[in-house]
Amino acid sequence: MFWNEQLETIERKALEKLQLEKLRKALAAAATTPFYKKVFADNGVDVSRITTLDHLRDLPLTTKHDLRLSYPDGMVAVPRTEIVRLHASSGTTGKSTVIFYTAKDLADWADLIARSMMATGTTRNDVFQNMMGYGLFTGGLGLHYGAERLGCLVIPSSTGNSLKQIELMKDFGTTVVHITPSYAMHLADVVSENGINPPDLGIKKAYLGAEPYSEGVKKKIEGQWGLDAYNSYGLSEMNGPGVAFECEYKNGMHLWEDYYIMEIINPDTGERLPDGEEGELVLTHINREAMPIIRYRTRDLTRIIPEKCACGRTHRRIERIKGRTDDMLIVGGVNVFPSQIETVLMNVPEVGNNYQIVLDRHNNLDRIHVRVELYNKMFEGDIKALDALRKKVVERLKALITVNPKVELLEPGSLPPSMGKAVRVIDKREI
Ligand code: AMP
Ligand code: ZN
Repeated sequence: MFWNEQLETIERKALEKLQLEKLRKALAAAATTPFYKKVFADNGVDVSRITTLDHLRDLPLTTKHDLRLSYPDGMVAVPRTEIVRLHASSGTTGKSTVIFYTAKDLADWADLIARSMMATGTTRNDVFQNMMGYGLFTGGLGLHYGAERLGCLVIPSSTGNSLKQIELMKDFGTTVVHITPSYAMHLADVVSENGINPPDLGIKKAYLGAEPYSEGVKKKIEGQWGLDAYNSYGLSEMNGPGVAFECEYKNGMHLWEDYYIMEIINPDTGERLPDGEEGELVLTHINREAMPIIRYRTRDLTRIIPEKCACGRTHRRIERIKGRTDDMLIVGGVNVFPSQIETVLMNVPEVGNNYQIVLDRHNNLDRIHVRVELYNKMFEGDIKALDALRKKVVERLKALITVNPKVELLEPGSLPPSMGKAVRVIDKREI
């Protein structure tokens, strides 16, 4: 089933021609922004000389750090009055990465989501329960407008409140859900605890994304609920969800190449790799007026699947994300960099030199446990002072990561001393 058969099955030659036209437009727009004006000047880039898709590799890469540097609007290419919405990436201190959209950008994004959902067989006859966070995070609102565009009955239930979620499923006959893999497993347990066999709820499809997970977890969720699960990939810098989506064949995600130009690079050298080799995904957004982003380093590791898909779509597929080239962790759907935790800890004068971050899952919900060594003298004081200090650390970490951390204060020498490269993060989650 196609949403836009002509665009989805477009011949490669015509697709590349379309990409080049859109790329040139995006580059011209980017060149008007303070950020790219400077980057292009510093690197001697004349965008009018980019006349083939291959020339793209000569342009500098853009990073998350660049987005923070140009906060709040150094990459904006339209007048302020044209912008109708912003989203921001979660879990960052102070300056988060902010993305802006014009009305056309939002309409185009909804269109792409409608296309993605239809590629899995969802239609206007479906009841779609959207259990992703609504707000600054792109996951909720992104799928929301796409599903409305497709004509589904949309239940914007957002995250949490499991009993309410189950009630909504039963009362309105939900057939399609959008959910993180960890919450899908947790919710299956809650459904069972309430005496319901999850497949009896009649949900046919789940869109799973926003965090890394394995094929094993996908199979487990399919078995628990008796449904088909489809992998959904996106990142706020490229709009949010809808960048790449599995079709009915569930065999890798079609990356929508009329909106994005993808490259796979060697993360160490920046050199472009041939189709089929694993490396870091780099994306150029060629379909956004408010904020064109050129050669964005996603830090996500994957591979292009060069073979044609049986569905007939010509947009190439990428494999499940294998990991990241940086140390970003996704804890309960929130992006967390260990360095941010370290900054918080190091700003507490009583904290000593060693700490450890332990991640695990309890009832399929992520937990974060921060173990911190203090200076000796802290243990000579009274227990109340120690408890107040622990609360202070919890509050500061909570402000950063929103997930409630467990904080343990330790005497010096309690943690294994680091020999060479310190192992600060211990991830015990099964993903
Ligand atoms: P955010 O910008 O906060 O939406 O986070 C985007 C990041 O979430 C991506 O760069 C990936 O690391 C991760 N992510 C999103 N979808 C998936 C998925 N289907 N599989 C693995 N990781 C994902
Ligand atoms: Zn396909």
